Amino acid sequence: MGDGNILTDLERSDENCILRFDDGKSYKLSYLSIRSRCQCAKCKPRQENEQRIIELEEEISRLMLEKPKVELVGRYGIRFEWPTGCSSGIHSFTHLRKVSEELGEQLD
Ligand SMILES: [Zn+2]
Repeated sequence: MGDGNILTDLERSDENCILRFDDGKSYKLSYLSIRSRCQCAKCKPRQENEQRIIELEEEISRLMLEKPKVELVGRYGIRFEWPTGCSSGIHSFTHLRKVSEELGEQLD
């Protein structure tokens, strides 16, 4: 059993995905939540305070969020390729775990 810093499985549905980590915990997380915490150069500065996060979330919620393509980046992260753009950010496993705990729903 690991310490939860490695993503072992990602199951994609139309509006959300299920992330499983190496400590056995699983979370259901919406694509909206993932995008609202996007780590790309354009989105990251927009999460520096509550007000900017709200604006970013509103903007994303107006997009058609389609099922993204996923690409593994080394052994530490994944890159989502969104049909609506914003695909350059790398989402490290530790970042995804943090977002999962903050915005996701923990599954049994
Ligand atoms: Zn972005």
